[in-house]
Amino acid sequence: MDRKAKAVVCREWGQPVQVETITVEGPKRDEITLKIGACGVCHSDQSATTGKIPYPAPLVLGHEAAGVVIEVGEGVTAFKEGDHVVSSFISMCGKCRQCVRGRPVLCENARKAMFTLPDGTVRTKGADGEDLNVFGACGVMAEYATMHVDNCVKVDDTIPMQNAALVGCAVMTGVGAVFNTAQVEPGSRTAVFGIGGVGLNAIQGCVTAGAEMIVAVDNNEKKLQMARGFGATHTVNISEVEDAAKAVKKLTGGVDYAFECVGAGAVVEQAYKCLGRGGTAVVVGVSDPKDKTSITTLTLPADERVLKGSWLGSARPQYDFPRILGLYKAGKLKLDELVTTTYAIDDAAQAFEDMLAGKNARGVIVFETDKGVTQ
Ligand SMILES: [Zn+2]
Ligand SMILES: [Zn+2]
Repeated sequence: MDRKAKAVVCREWGQPVQVETITVEGPKRDEITLKIGACGVCHSDQSATTGKIPYPAPLVLGHEAAGVVIEVGEGVTAFKEGDHVVSSFISMCGKCRQCVRGRPVLCENARKAMFTLPDGTVRTKGADGEDLNVFGACGVMAEYATMHVDNCVKVDDTIPMQNAALVGCAVMTGVGAVFNTAQVEPGSRTAVFGIGGVGLNAIQGCVTAGAEMIVAVDNNEKKLQMARGFGATHTVNISEVEDAAKAVKKLTGGVDYAFECVGAGAVVEQAYKCLGRGGTAVVVGVSDPKDKTSITTLTLPADERVLKGSWLGSARPQYDFPRILGLYKAGKLKLDELVTTTYAIDDAAQAFEDMLAGKNARGVIVFETDKGVTQ
């Protein structure tokens, strides 16, 4: 059935987001409709409003949400009404070469579902009946969303939705870079460049992995303090040192793993430069497509250094989302502390402003109080 829903929409690149009442159609084959409980506000949503992520407007934002299943389409067997679900913005077909070799985040069919559902159509309509695109096949910054089951992961329904939501992007990206991409071992020396929602999660991933040293690097003292709260053992304020890489190297003797969570060639250089012999630099940040970096070539063979990328924490969402939430339940990952401000959907524009001002670890839009949603 069709449902009216308030949704956060980008109507035009460069303009502030607006809250509109849209129509969300019911599920077709292999789709489900969710009543959304909470949706995190991510820099990528912002990037879609400027064209840095070039999803065409009009676009329903949101790709980091938790909700409850209220309607299932034909052929759906893995979900039933009442299940709690976290959105997964990379569509994974389960059948292509990358999916079957265990790298679903690189799914060869994912590009079919960038701003529509995988069949190239949408279930979201504006007031004039026009199609509204959906961020990452999700569009979950809305009261309801109809999604393909390949973009949905069933999760433990005892976890508050505002916490569960974050595993869909920020937590998976940061923790996954440490667990899956780098496979940090206990006793490692690590550094994290850029302390936003992703950087904080890279830090707590390093804590859980048993890293001996975790150096947080940023230019904002408040964020460095937050980093200490999440387990950083040392901090480097780049506005107070001449060369951040040298400062990290002096503290650690050269790190085994450095995580770049900014998305800028200059920072990638720093992350690579602070490695010790045999060290690995992991680029997590999403840069402008034209951005470049440079490294000293000889250090690759002579030090056996590694430079690699991490996309959504090399996630296998159906496996990783539940296990990360399991670590939260066991008290080994902080999610409550990540949610520093909650917003009503009518205050979405403020949530974006606060994110740009660096006010939050994560700002989360929380929909009406419901089962599993705590305030
Ligand atoms: Zn995101
Ligand atoms: Zn695939």
